[in-house]
Amino acid sequence: MEVYVSMNKFILLFFFISIHCFASDTLLTKTPAQNLSALLQFRSLSGHEKQAGDFLLNKATEMGLSVHVFNNQDSAFNFSASLYPLEQHKPNIVFLCHIDVVPAVDSIEWRFPPFSGAIVNDTIWGRGCLDMKGIGLMQLHAVATYLEEAKKESLPYNFSVLFVSGEESGGQNGAKLIVENNLPLLNPSLIIGEGGAGLKGVLPSKPEKEIFFLSVVEKRSLWLKLSVHQKTHGHSSLPSSNSANNIMIKAIDRITSEKPIITFNKTTRHMFRDLGILNGGLTGFVLKNINSFLLRPFRRKILSSEPLLLTEVTNTIQLTNYSNPNGPPNVIPGSAVSYFDCRLVPTVSTKKFIRKLKLRIHNPKVEIEIIDQSPEEKASKQNEKFGAIKLALKKTYPGCEVLPVLFPATTDNSYFRSKGIKAYGLLPLELNQQLIETVHATNECIPVSSLNKGIEAYKEIIRELINLN
Ligand SMILES: [Zn+2]
Repeated sequence: MEVYVSMNKFILLFFFISIHCFASDTLLTKTPAQNLSALLQFRSLSGHEKQAGDFLLNKATEMGLSVHVFNNQDSAFNFSASLYPLEQHKPNIVFLCHIDVVPAVDSIEWRFPPFSGAIVNDTIWGRGCLDMKGIGLMQLHAVATYLEEAKKESLPYNFSVLFVSGEESGGQNGAKLIVENNLPLLNPSLIIGEGGAGLKGVLPSKPEKEIFFLSVVEKRSLWLKLSVHQKTHGHSSLPSSNSANNIMIKAIDRITSEKPIITFNKTTRHMFRDLGILNGGLTGFVLKNINSFLLRPFRRKILSSEPLLLTEVTNTIQLTNYSNPNGPPNVIPGSAVSYFDCRLVPTVSTKKFIRKLKLRIHNPKVEIEIIDQSPEEKASKQNEKFGAIKLALKKTYPGCEVLPVLFPATTDNSYFRSKGIKAYGLLPLELNQQLIETVHATNECIPVSSLNKGIEAYKEIIRELINLN
């Protein structure tokens, strides 16, 4: 159905974000665009964040913010920049940003080299523009504008930007270290980390309506290693139907061929309901009642026409790697290993998921090992702070709507939610599909106007949060 095709854009935005010049990398650069250009020139791949972190630390100090370094290594560089020193123990509203970026190869596919920080016409180019160095600079500039006010009167909250390492590699060297060791000092009453952005063309009946997707919970990542060790006669001129490869391939087939179970939770039920109400008409009715008794027999068919919408309500299992020990082509290998990246809806436990997987594989020779998983979390309730953020977005982007959603990927927000701290995910800027598709891909870029508008949005968010008291 046409309606569901256009829903594609809606989910895509989760994944989230004529003068030719190369800005200077000196710390004295002043405009947000120049600061971002300089920051993009550091190759801060996961595990090598210190140089970019030092740049941000110096920038924050130069702005007059109060900084606290939690970890000071190349592979784990984590610090906060705040209106008030953390030692004052004010309830802290923490903007969260990861310093690391995914790799980018200098190739002709990039219009401008990925670590050039080129500013061309009205656009800044480079790995990390959207994910997430550009966002971190918006947060830093926005918080710093309240320094004078914070000096004049005691604001009800401290506001901090927390810069962390290693988000792209699972968060162990960043957010995980912070939640395990530094929560009493950081004293967060709310985390505002990465999440959904604003997009038009989402609602078929109202294409001009801009919608911001504020994530309140995320899917959980679970990385699994499957192994089979099976001795057979070695020579492949005598085929064996019971080789390690045969067993593994059968297991993979059983895992990937089964239809995923549709599981709605509170967040997704509300999300579909809100989308339906906003859209109106017959399509709106279908979306609103997708989980109802009446539509239940058809919901898989309806959702299957839009796979990205289906991922909101199903566990996904993706084969990412397969290997055998090195050997010549005429020897049957004695072992096989495969890796899976699974993403679970929040109500499904790892234990239950693996138990079902084992039942499906139905062969004790296949061993399953957990390589890594993100922590289990509860959805952050929509309280008055959620309302304040919503109001701020509506003021910055008149006519927009704000929807609480489940984020179909995993971010550092989950570490905080797992400790019972509320965390909302948001990129307060307008994106289009073209921009979204550059994240983790070639030609990542951000218009200068979006960078500046994002700063205005964060400033408005801080204003509305102060106004709560
Ligand atoms: Zn990110």
